Amino acid sequence: MRALVTGGAGFIGSNLVDALLDRGDEVSVVDDLTTGRERNLAGALERGITWHRADIRDGGRLKEVFAADRPDIVFHLAAQIDVRRSIEDPAFDAAVNIGGTINVLEAARLAGVRRVVNTSTGGAIYGEADVIPTPETVEPRPMAAYGQSKFCAERYCGWVGRLYGMEAVTLRYGNVYGPRQDPHGEAGVIAIFAGRLLDGRRPTIYGDGRQTRDYTFVGDIVAANLAVAAHPEAHGEYNVGTGVESTVIDLVETNWPRDRDSRIVEREEFGATTSRLWKTLREESMKTMGRMGTAA
Ligand code: NAD
Repeated sequence: MRALVTGGAGFIGSNLVDALLDRGDEVSVVDDLTTGRERNLAGALERGITWHRADIRDGGRLKEVFAADRPDIVFHLAAQIDVRRSIEDPAFDAAVNIGGTINVLEAARLAGVRRVVNTSTGGAIYGEADVIPTPETVEPRPMAAYGQSKFCAERYCGWVGRLYGMEAVTLRYGNVYGPRQDPHGEAGVIAIFAGRLLDGRRPTIYGDGRQTRDYTFVGDIVAANLAVAAHPEAHGEYNVGTGVESTVIDLVETNWPRDRDSRIVEREEFGATTSRLWKTLREESMKTMGRMGTAA
């Protein structure tokens, strides 16, 4: 299988690239290195990926790259991910997250791509939802421009399906942590706390520490991408997370005395129901087990 990963030099994208190489795919990466790092791809470059330093706002360049590499499947992770910047400069945020996604979908369609797996956010898209954990059936009411642009990009995925029949499935991640996470990023609380633990310093808790998130390991995010990419009937939007809300205090109380400060970055609570995804994955794994049973 030929796979193309946008944002492949980033935290989550580079973990996905490694997993695709492990299963024997030919992999191309598109990234402009805004927040991504070439060192995240050091191993992957040695293993022969095709590397394009390109901006997804440049639709013409994307069309050339997709036409040359002819991927079967595209994982679209490149994004403007800074929530504060999205509020300060919503036009830039939209240019990358909406305009860039449209360019990816167009390039994919013209190159005959079978499916695009799009990336969205559970934490920023639902806004002040009344139901927590929040199922996909709740209408998103994002507070930050970042959530709004991600929601709009999801709608374009639905649109290419209706107009052209191209499959574009969206995964809404919880708060992702794991290797290669940038501790200076927006959602890097576990990376920041781990760095402080290694330095022997106390973490700072913003707000009262009772704000909750659905902390999800990057390996599980990668597994969800691979499962949804393979499932013949996957469609629409899926939450990806543990389904469990954890407070910041939960993360630190066993290691450090609490420190206080205040800052509001996004909503105070987030937990997503993942029942829609689990249903898909369970069906997929049961089919796999059935095939294994037949083979044995
Ligand atoms: P990241 O910053 O490490 O990865 C984003 C990548 O996109 C970077 O490599 C960056 O250089 C690249 N990029 C940015 N603008 C670009 C442009 N114009 N053209 C080409 N490449 C561009 O962040 P991440 O945490 O790995 O995020 C990956 C995806 O997951 C994003 O779509 C993000 O919105 C989504 N997401 C992440 C989290 C999380 O907790 N980290 C939660 C929800 C959703």
